Amino acid sequence: MNYELKACPFCGGEPEFEGMDRLIKIGCKACGYSRAFRGLLQATVNDKPVGNGEYYHSNATSDATAAWNRRPAVDEASNADSARWRMLPAVIEKHQIDYLTLAY
Ligand SMILES: [Zn+2]
Repeated sequence: MNYELKACPFCGGEPEFEGMDRLIKIGCKACGYSRAFRGLLQATVNDKPVGNGEYYHSNATSDATAAWNRRPAVDEASNADSARWRMLPAVIEKHQIDYLTLAY
């Protein structure tokens, strides 16, 4: 089965699966952002016990994929906002602004 992941919500980088058993971790190869989801082995009861109080959840990978791919609806204003945030590192580099002097 093919689990197609949407690009990283922060940098647009390519994500990959990093763990599968008790936690399914999906992380961005470019910026390191990652999220963890319930894995293939869970304590939640279902019809496939594997011992040690754990159960096999064959739908965990598709659930994790769907959760990673779910994005909040954004309007044009917040799209413009996130575009500005994506440009920030380039702006800082161009003007040689010290990160530490930026006011929050
Ligand atoms: Zn990223």
